[in-house]
Amino acid sequence: MPLVTLRQLLDEAAKGGYGVGAFNVNNMEQIQAIMEAARETKSPVIVQASRGARAYSNDNFLYHLMLAANELYPEIPMVLHLDHGNSFDTCKSAIELGFTSVMMDGSLMADGKTPSTFEYNVDVTRRVVELAHSKGVTVEGEIGTLGGIEDGHGAGGTGLEHVTDPDQAVEFVEKTGLDALAIAIGTSHGAYKFTKKPDGSVLKMDLLIEIHKRLPTTHLVMHGSSSVPKDLQDIINKYGGKLKETWGVPVEEIQLGIKNGVRKINVDTDNRLAITGAIRKVFAETPEKFDPRDYNKPARAAMQKVVAQRMTQFGQAGHASDFQAKSLADYVEFYKNNK
Ligand SMILES: [Zn+2]
Repeated sequence: MPLVTLRQLLDEAAKGGYGVGAFNVNNMEQIQAIMEAARETKSPVIVQASRGARAYSNDNFLYHLMLAANELYPEIPMVLHLDHGNSFDTCKSAIELGFTSVMMDGSLMADGKTPSTFEYNVDVTRRVVELAHSKGVTVEGEIGTLGGIEDGHGAGGTGLEHVTDPDQAVEFVEKTGLDALAIAIGTSHGAYKFTKKPDGSVLKMDLLIEIHKRLPTTHLVMHGSSSVPKDLQDIINKYGGKLKETWGVPVEEIQLGIKNGVRKINVDTDNRLAITGAIRKVFAETPEKFDPRDYNKPARAAMQKVVAQRMTQFGQAGHASDFQAKSLADYVEFYKNNK
């Protein structure tokens, strides 16, 4: 089947009452890990590339690796999504290359750091929606800003400085016509999200539930939603790493979100931890080895394990063959008829 749109995947997820993990990739092994996990659990998948990933691996490598994945795993519906597009032009270039979904993160200015105004965010997101929908491509927007910085992108801080205002969220969705909405409820990018297991004072699930009540048909997106499990931290530190103690978003909170309109869950840090831990273990236990396959293989297997676990926990497992893939052309029609 061709690459599918995020809109189709999330509409199906809403019907089925489950969430779909969106996993970041930079290289072949990460794409392979996700696809193997999808086959193992019979899951539809969202593969996403940030601007940092596109710069690291070059767009053409990423895109053609995705096409290879699509050929090798024909039974798996796949979305290729741009994570945190910083400008109209970045989104446009992804659409032209063949991404079936883009995020326009207008919560920050094009520098990827400075919080923007509401008016700026509406304007840039609306323009991306116009272009994307004319090609059948899905758009995710963001209102409120997350904490932390990753790949040079992010407002920094704790995640509580610019949480989403529900009134603004409603106005934002009406004015932009987007398909999926990322909201800020206290989460951050990177490994250092919380200094203890998060409670309602730092992870605002009540705010998420309120936004879902106000926007019951909008697909919500949770960013910065790695769980940063202690066992993955421990492996890294056992083999010479120096991670400071930290907490992520507990899976049960994500599952509560999924019951309340969350359809896309972004996970990157957990996979990074799994890969690094596996590589450190090989280096520490068998320092005589020097063939990259000797550590890339266990690294890939470790990431596959985490991804398969999340797919099962988010509920997307078993749903790969629920629907017929629609084309971008079908979605061009869809958007014409659903203005
Ligand atoms: Zn994000």
